[in-house]
Amino acid sequence: MTKKYGVGINGAWCKGCSLCIGVCPKKVLELSDRMKAVPARETDCVGCRQCENICPDLAITIKEVE
Ligand code: SF4
Ligand code: SF4
Repeated sequence: MTKKYGVGINGAWCKGCSLCIGVCPKKVLELSDRMKAVPARETDCVGCRQCENICPDLAITIKEVE
């Protein structure tokens, strides 16, 4: 069974730098019109945590979900 992941983004901490959007191999993230990263395709997330690691503001938390 394939694992599923929840992509949590703290909008108050996100400054819209787009680093996470560029690093994601599955194109899960997009920039909203309010210039915040949002998990537009969360079901495509493979849990690699590259976005979590690259975010300079620690705004992303990846969690495995049941
Ligand atoms: S890397 Fe962090 S601060 Fe930059 S857009 Fe993504 S969530 Fe926001
Ligand atoms: S954990 Fe990996 S696949 Fe999931 S949103 Fe972050 S970079 Fe993309």
